[in-house]
Amino acid sequence: MTEEHKAKIAGALRGKPKSEDHKAKLRSVIFTEERRRKISEGNKGKKLSEELKKAISERTRGERNPMFGKKHSREVVESARIRSTGVEKSPETLVKMSAVMKDKWTEPDSVFATEGYKKKLSEKAKERFSNPEAREIASEAAKRRWEDPEERKKISEAQKAHSSKPEVRVKRSFDSKERWKTEEFREKMKKAQLRGEEHPFWKGGKTSESMKIRNSTEYKLWRRSVFERDNFTCQFCGSRGGKLCADHIKPFSMFPELRFAIDNGRTLCVECHRKTPTFGWKSSKKYNQE
Ligand SMILES: [Zn+2]
Repeated sequence: MTEEHKAKIAGALRGKPKSEDHKAKLRSVIFTEERRRKISEGNKGKKLSEELKKAISERTRGERNPMFGKKHSREVVESARIRSTGVEKSPETLVKMSAVMKDKWTEPDSVFATEGYKKKLSEKAKERFSNPEAREIASEAAKRRWEDPEERKKISEAQKAHSSKPEVRVKRSFDSKERWKTEEFREKMKKAQLRGEEHPFWKGGKTSESMKIRNSTEYKLWRRSVFERDNFTCQFCGSRGGKLCADHIKPFSMFPELRFAIDNGRTLCVECHRKTPTFGWKSSKKYNQE
């Protein structure tokens, strides 16, 4: 058979519908178990050349792909996922399992929810959150831990170990795909991006001089002193505790010499702080207008 002859036959057969019987026969002749095994053995460790890859990709693109317009069965998808991740539980199962773990904390007959345990937890939590001083101390301790390179390394390694668990990865990827399906989440991400890169005040993500100062020990001491002098009470609305801000009466950016002056500070709750004319990035602009 000449090459030309072969090409002619192939051309004539291309696109001709084959009966199911014919297809099965072809498969059994061309791909006997034995042959399949041999091909697979022979191909092990071999790399496809760039040309071949391109040729295969071109031959199976779009409508020419045998899977065009079809969907893999649930079983095929599952087995491909197991092969690539090594996790046998489906993402749905992992999501359910995690929900069960969460329920354990709230179900009335769970060990975690026994009256004694709950009472102890709630008392401890109340103690911690009702006392602004204790809250401030706890928050500072957490920050200190984060600033210590050794501690930070420990935290980051524990997180890495957790994130690299195949179960965690499968569940996270599933969760994130599900999240992108909701209009609400997509809107939120769009806005977040606008606040970041596209925002006219974006500085390329570098730590500004003012951020460095705000993270300094001196600044923290100033903040602490302002809170203590004001007895952890908002100077506008009089609410005590909760999330507090130490506000600079004369703006931080315009009066560098007054940054650590206790007299230039006042304790404000978050809502009242938001209402100040110098809140956030509009600081210097607004102050100049007044
Ligand atoms: Zn307030």
